[in-house]
Amino acid sequence: MKQETKIVTAGRNDKWTKGVVNPSVTRASTVVFNSVDEMNHAVANRFNDTMVYGRRGTTTAFAFSDAMTSLEGGAGCALYPSGTAAITNAILAFVKSGDHILMVDTAYEPTRDYCDKILANMGVTTTYYDPLIGADIESLIQENTRIVFLESPGSITMEVQDVPTISHIAHQHNCIVMLDNTWGAGINFKPFDYGVDISIQAATKYIVGHSDVMLGTATATEKYWPQLRDNSYLMGQCTSPDDLYLALRGIRTLGVRLKQHQENAMKVATWLADRPEVETILHPAFESCPGHEFFKRDFNGSNGLFSFVLNRGDKQTIKPFLDGLSHFKMGYSWGGFESLILGIANVGSLRSATTWQAEHPLIRVHIGLENADDLIEDLEKAFARLNNAVAQ
Ligand SMILES: *Cc1c(COP(=O)(O)O)cnc(C)c1O
Repeated sequence: MKQETKIVTAGRNDKWTKGVVNPSVTRASTVVFNSVDEMNHAVANRFNDTMVYGRRGTTTAFAFSDAMTSLEGGAGCALYPSGTAAITNAILAFVKSGDHILMVDTAYEPTRDYCDKILANMGVTTTYYDPLIGADIESLIQENTRIVFLESPGSITMEVQDVPTISHIAHQHNCIVMLDNTWGAGINFKPFDYGVDISIQAATKYIVGHSDVMLGTATATEKYWPQLRDNSYLMGQCTSPDDLYLALRGIRTLGVRLKQHQENAMKVATWLADRPEVETILHPAFESCPGHEFFKRDFNGSNGLFSFVLNRGDKQTIKPFLDGLSHFKMGYSWGGFESLILGIANVGSLRSATTWQAEHPLIRVHIGLENADDLIEDLEKAFARLNNAVAQ
């Protein structure tokens, strides 16, 4: 089945749609049974889409899980109330005191904080590695290394990783390969074709796509699915059927949204590349982006999120650049239909295994579904304000 068709049909099993187009919103804590046999049957089939108790998920959760497994691949998908909960619980399901994990230096900041502030206290140590390490990951693997965690492209700085090479080496040492696949969104990167064991998404971003729900997913191969599923259940992870309904609705337009985000972002990035104020474009589809060759080899496309580095300005002078924008709002998120922007003056403070060389601020944009020319006009005025501030 082709991708577009899968996006339309994923999770729409008759069992859950019952004669209409979309699965219903089934709200429940208690699931009731009329006989001992019926109850025993439900318990025996609890891993087979039969409702037992609300925390194990209702039909809305089964439909969404099924849809995500269909998009990402793998054997099953565990659901969490946020992307961060998906990351922390997926890691927690596979480590014990004394273990070691390898974490990419460009991981989402809360992922790093979890390693430093929670795993460290539990006796699980973390070594950060250069996202472009490739086959040299082998030199960092220890006797007790359990997980190699990737995020590609990296948060903020967008380095694309050589996922198959890192996965191959990690597997030779019996490590589990986990990937934060939020940017790939289950569409532009197919994690299980490149050796990933567990693919995690902040569904909050492109899956939901409308900036109104927090949600996380972790999809696993046959080998790791039972342990991931059972641990998530033991940790009490569950999600609201109303949120899942919105996420299911988001999936139906995911393909067309991403295509338009990609087209708009390419137009804006191409315009930015010619601006005298721009040092470099950190967009995976641009040669200037570290790891661009892996993007070309492994990805099916891009989306609306990328960064660029300025060749002038500082923490103070980017204020007028950002403050006067009308289509871009500032926000710590992305993946919705609207444009967002973030100015980061001290990228280096977010890294420990690599050194950030750029002298001037980095700007991260999420290019939304507005007309790209309106966005360019907005940015053009912002550059004029920046130049004015720098000249003073
Ligand atoms: C936003 C984000 C997360 C966390 O998702 P939440 O739903 O906000 O907890 C994780 N990874 C990446 C790459 C993100 O952008």
